[in-house]
Amino acid sequence: MTSAAAPEKPDTAAETVLTAMPLSPGIAVAPLRLHAPDEPAVPLRRIEPDAVLAETERLEKALLRTRGELHALRTSLGGDSAAIFDAHLLAVDDPDFLARIHREICDGKVCAEHAVFRAGAYFADLFSRMEDDYLKERANDIRDVVKRIVHALAEPAEGAPAGAAATTPAILVAKELAPSEAMNLRESGVAGLVVEGASPTSHVAILTRALGIPAVTRLSVPLASLPEGAEAVLDGTRGTLTLRPTEATRAEKLREKGEADALRGRLAALRDEPCTLVDGKRVGLEANLDMPRDAEEALQCGAEGVGLYRTEYLFLDTGEMPGEETQFAAYAHIARLLAPRRVVLRTLDLGGDKLSGSLDLATESNPFLGWRAIRLCLGRTDIFRTQLRAMLRASALNPNLEIMYPMISRADEIDRANALLAACKEELRGEGKEFNENVSVGVMVEIPAAALIARDLARKVAFFSIGTNDLTQYTLAVDRGNEQVAHLYDPLHPAVLRLIAETIAAGEAAGIETGVCGEMAGQAVYAPLLAGMGAKTLSASPRHLPTVKAVLRALDSTECRELARAALQSADGLATRERCRALIARRAPELLPLVD
Ligand code: PEP
Ligand code: MG
Repeated sequence: MTSAAAPEKPDTAAETVLTAMPLSPGIAVAPLRLHAPDEPAVPLRRIEPDAVLAETERLEKALLRTRGELHALRTSLGGDSAAIFDAHLLAVDDPDFLARIHREICDGKVCAEHAVFRAGAYFADLFSRMEDDYLKERANDIRDVVKRIVHALAEPAEGAPAGAAATTPAILVAKELAPSEAMNLRESGVAGLVVEGASPTSHVAILTRALGIPAVTRLSVPLASLPEGAEAVLDGTRGTLTLRPTEATRAEKLREKGEADALRGRLAALRDEPCTLVDGKRVGLEANLDMPRDAEEALQCGAEGVGLYRTEYLFLDTGEMPGEETQFAAYAHIARLLAPRRVVLRTLDLGGDKLSGSLDLATESNPFLGWRAIRLCLGRTDIFRTQLRAMLRASALNPNLEIMYPMISRADEIDRANALLAACKEELRGEGKEFNENVSVGVMVEIPAAALIARDLARKVAFFSIGTNDLTQYTLAVDRGNEQVAHLYDPLHPAVLRLIAETIAAGEAAGIETGVCGEMAGQAVYAPLLAGMGAKTLSASPRHLPTVKAVLRALDSTECRELARAALQSADGLATRERCRALIARRAPELLPLVD
């Protein structure tokens, strides 16, 4: 039996459809897994005694792959960075570490991922309690290596059936999830996510969309009432969770998923085509990266560059403060891989909902209005200078590497940051280290104050990038992570659109380019509006780029400009969205399933 209205408590036997707010589109079919806050990042999967041999073979193949990766990184980076990978190679071959992993698999009968995780946690803990600084640092090497091996285990071994090696997929049900946990969802076998404390532009939602994991929030029943292990279908596009689906429901949802995947597959053919409107107008399409490992995906999805690399995830990932060499290795990887394409490295945007355990920050009552991003960097110049040095050194590897400061609200913040940048250049010159003397510096326009003084800021920078996620939150006074006020969060509110228009006009008057890198840029339904407003580039999670490109290639810039004019005069965000949708429905109806 299927009930369309949400019941108070899920029925224990029949199919039950619960409603929710969509966060990330797509469909997942898997059992529910309830998340305990201190649950390890790598879930436990028990294995049968006769699977031990196969599991150790999987482990050996993953170790081999990990060693290969580390040797390749060591060779490609060379210099001081090579020492990091030497230490990681030593950890991979450490006999005590390996023996402990094998014991976990053979005696403990746990999957290889969990065995590696447990052995790593044991040694990382041991090292972190040592007096000697050098030995203490080994804890980080172990953690890094564990991540690499677990990642290698997630990839199907050559010749193995796809997915055979992966952790059993599940729909994760979590009260709250930190961005640092969300970034590793794929490795944890999470096929879908039901979360309580999130809204569409919270960083958790952004990460699930970037990872292609369907997600919802605000479920119509308390999460605690959901049955662990029950089979479910999560529809992140419509915002439903179906418990114990009938065969017919499963088949229908899998058919829908198949059709969307097939359409996406067809759009992949546009990868090397330019993002040109029907009348020849060009819009640049770039990628937002959260992790260096996303750089390959950006190229596969046809990104012309990286418009935003959120460097703070490097700090969230390890829970430790990454040193200059670790940062350099990450930036160099992206810079080299994308060269000579443009790569915009954003300086640390920690604070708000992105809190790192490595930075003992005081609790703030309004963290989004607090010590975040450039404010934190200008207060902790030790951290900022380390990052700027690493970025500058990476600029020697790609002539189009650029640096961007987030959360600028005053012109003097740019001056102060640039003074530190100049000091770092001076240091590097003294040390004989290479960097691009003319590296371009730009700013995010994501605070209304910045948009309103954009004409002053434009004189100090080489480009603007509009962060619509924060611009919307600060303009409308709607916390982007608060599900209670999520219905008030509207990037199409005329106030937000006018600030975007003002920023683009200020950029044009000063002869600098303005792009958009907030989530709006990756939602294909908004592409005609942003192009019509004059955004020169759109930067979004790699997997959104093909749809945005397909939509824009079907439109004419005159109709986009008309749409933008109407939107700026409209008091109604919903009407604007409808106009955008109607234009796409007229010009490219076949794309609607990926646009809605
Ligand atoms: C934004 O605010 O729009 C943005 C792109 O930055 P973040 O989402 O990382 O705050
Ligand atoms: Mg922002």
